[in-house]
Amino acid sequence: MDAKNTQLRIFFFPFMAQGHSIPTTDMAKLFASRGADVAIITTPLNAPLIAKSINKSDHSGREIELLIINFPSQAVGLPDGCESLDLARSPEMFNSFFRATTMLGPQIDQILDQHRPHCLVADTFFPWTTDLAAKYGIPRVVFHGTCFFSLCAAASIIANRPYKNVSSELEPFVIPNLPDEIKLTRSQVPGYLKEEIETDFIKLYWASKEVESRCYGFLINSFYELEPAYADYYRNVLRRRAWHIGPLSLYSNVGEDNVQRGSSSSIDEHQCLQWLDSKNPDSVLYVSFGTLASLTDSQLLEIAEGLEATGQNFIWVVKKEKSDQEEWLPEGFEKRIEGRGLIIRGWAPQVLILEHRSIGGFVTHCGWNSALEGVTAGIPMVTWPNSAEQFYNEKLITDVLRIGVGVGALYWGRAGKDEIKSEAIAKAVSQVMVGEEAEGMRRRAKALGIQARKAIEEGGSSSSDLNAFFENLRSRI
Ligand code: UDP
Repeated sequence: MDAKNTQLRIFFFPFMAQGHSIPTTDMAKLFASRGADVAIITTPLNAPLIAKSINKSDHSGREIELLIINFPSQAVGLPDGCESLDLARSPEMFNSFFRATTMLGPQIDQILDQHRPHCLVADTFFPWTTDLAAKYGIPRVVFHGTCFFSLCAAASIIANRPYKNVSSELEPFVIPNLPDEIKLTRSQVPGYLKEEIETDFIKLYWASKEVESRCYGFLINSFYELEPAYADYYRNVLRRRAWHIGPLSLYSNVGEDNVQRGSSSSIDEHQCLQWLDSKNPDSVLYVSFGTLASLTDSQLLEIAEGLEATGQNFIWVVKKEKSDQEEWLPEGFEKRIEGRGLIIRGWAPQVLILEHRSIGGFVTHCGWNSALEGVTAGIPMVTWPNSAEQFYNEKLITDVLRIGVGVGALYWGRAGKDEIKSEAIAKAVSQVMVGEEAEGMRRRAKALGIQARKAIEEGGSSSSDLNAFFENLRSRI
């Protein structure tokens, strides 16, 4: 059989955190729908979540195989069953979790030896897969899960360390050499770039950077029209071979046959949609901080007061179980907001909600999946970054795309310093929901949402880049 007709066999190895495994699963579904033979490598407790979101969707009849490896929780002192970063709640557990992932090599070695896929798409947090795959002549492609913009911003900060040239935590500096003038403060720079100490996570972070120049390439969950200058910069200035294939959430098939992404929803989806159906277009604010951020009770209280003060309809996702003592809610709050506010405790069907025509604004922590899902749904955002690369993502939304307003977060990792008051929350919400400025942001956001959909259609930029990726792999056979 000639290479042109050879069926590509592509293995995915997602990091065990929902913010990484959700888009990787969408990507696996996309590749299967384009005729590739696909397998996802995961652990026993993550497997059912992935299985649930791949089961019913249409991959043109192709099954996605799950290959199960064991996660060495006990070897690093984690409780049995702690197989997802979302469950590693303390800094010690967080570091142990990352240490455990460095012990997975022998199992991956065995899988690669046995199956010899044409490509291994492995998360950025598995830097050791580069050399392992090379042993069998298999290209390792990296999935970061973030955008071109944040990769460019991080590269500049690592190369130039501009935060060393300011005299205080809150004095702004310009991130050098980027296509736009982007300002940040030292307090917003990720702690892992500034720390001198070597935690397990920090070691892994630098190892992931160190192997990048030897990796075969990078798959990016973005589309060209969203950030053309940064897609070009990443390829031409940073000289990375990259293919943009997003927005991946458009392949999630959420809503079709009740296909779910990630955890099971804590609310009946039909009930949620009915509630949204009863509201006017663009009139509901959706508030969520992703899967990892944990907010203090006093911060939640400020949010509740801010939401009440705006008078807007809202859906607020809170990672808390219902209990008798809800000190994070003002007295009588739920009664007062009845009919105009919905609190979802636990897991929300986020994409289904964002895509509803009643949603008119999104308060987001700027995790890249959420940010891109907001863009894809054409919704202006209130940006409230906390950790990881979220402060860069905020700048893309507010300063480059001009489809959002910052709530005023100043400290990466918060460190207890960054409580945002209800007045600031209400003000930012009003800015994206009402008035002329809001209209401008909404117009730009909707235009981007249309471009996002075009990008994945045949002939669109992401669809074409995916073809280019497949052709590239075939040319190696
Ligand atoms: N998500 C969801 N329901 C929730 C919380 C999160 O569906 O209640 C999904 C969300 O749509 C996104 C992912 O989980 O796809 C979170 O990824 P993101 O990069 O936004 O943030 P992280 O959790 O990694 O900080």
